[in-house]
Amino acid sequence: MNNTGSWEKNVRKVVPYTPGEQPKCSGIIKLNTNENPYPPSPHVKAVLDNYDCGKMRLYPDPDSTVLVEAIAERYNVKPSQVFAGVGSDDVISVAFMTFFNSDKPVLFPDITYSFYDVWADVYRIPYVQKPLTEDFRINADDYKCENGGIIFPNPNAPTGCEESLEMIEDILKANPDSVVMIDEAYVDFGANSALSLIDKYENLLVIQTFSKSRSMAGMRIGYAIGSEKLIRYMNDVKFSINSYTMTPITQLCGAEAVRDEQYFQDTVNMITETREYSKKKLAELGFTFPDSKSNFIFASHKEKAAAEIFAALKERKIFVRFWDKPRISNYLRITIGTREEMDKLFSALEDILK
Ligand code: PMP
Repeated sequence: MNNTGSWEKNVRKVVPYTPGEQPKCSGIIKLNTNENPYPPSPHVKAVLDNYDCGKMRLYPDPDSTVLVEAIAERYNVKPSQVFAGVGSDDVISVAFMTFFNSDKPVLFPDITYSFYDVWADVYRIPYVQKPLTEDFRINADDYKCENGGIIFPNPNAPTGCEESLEMIEDILKANPDSVVMIDEAYVDFGANSALSLIDKYENLLVIQTFSKSRSMAGMRIGYAIGSEKLIRYMNDVKFSINSYTMTPITQLCGAEAVRDEQYFQDTVNMITETREYSKKKLAELGFTFPDSKSNFIFASHKEKAAAEIFAALKERKIFVRFWDKPRISNYLRITIGTREEMDKLFSALEDILK
């Protein structure tokens, strides 16, 4: 090679986020990335069936108006309080860039969504991870020190634990000078949303997604709801990077999905019922787990190591998630699938554990 200058010293070097495996082979039971086992609303299919491909010549609506208005109506807020993005990963990434812009550290739990530290690193944002308690709970007092912002999921991932709105409000009261983000990717499976607090706290940003409770992980739709001021600041940053982030098909499908409230309620109910059934089954098999309000259960077996169970399940074409990380290396995060898929998991576990 001829041209060996020192250009590499100026590269923005990062250790990227590792997404859950998306296996290419068929016939597997996929309980590793918290996807919804049911298809999206039939109204979404109707959009696709009737879509005029001629429209692809045109750029999409940069404001995603049809989607933003449908979300605003569903959550009883103004469209100017909604920011839509390409999955909540995109929304959170824009929010990090917009609001976490201080020399003081951003705070989030030590055990949480493992993308937060990656965004902080890529944007050069200082951060401190606050240890969860022994039973995986957030201690509000940890978030009452000087900081450049706060984020955590509620329910938390990968633990599934829900924190109360009183606790969230306690943190908000102590932090009028920071933006507090609550990542509600899993809130629809039985937790209380902090959306009820947005009129009271101008600095509260609530982030949700279509990937879990609306069965549309592949479509990539996420959104943030907050004060008009927060949303304006996020749009300023978004429109400084890429205006046309969401395809017209995505916008239309998302709007139809959010309007089909009955289908949403029905599928969420099926999943929460299967989750409660799965809790009983896992307990019978000798697993312990924090009580989950999400579409997954974070389980540890009292005798057999998580790494071994993970490998044995994979051999049987059942994928769950495992992290070889401090404090959680003896846990498996098991996504709630259909009742049939869960029964196959339990038979496999019985076999592995006997
Ligand atoms: N937040 C949490 C806590 C998550 O687990 C996920 C899913 N990986 C996301 C955000 C991002 O989801 P999406 O980009 O599909 O909306």
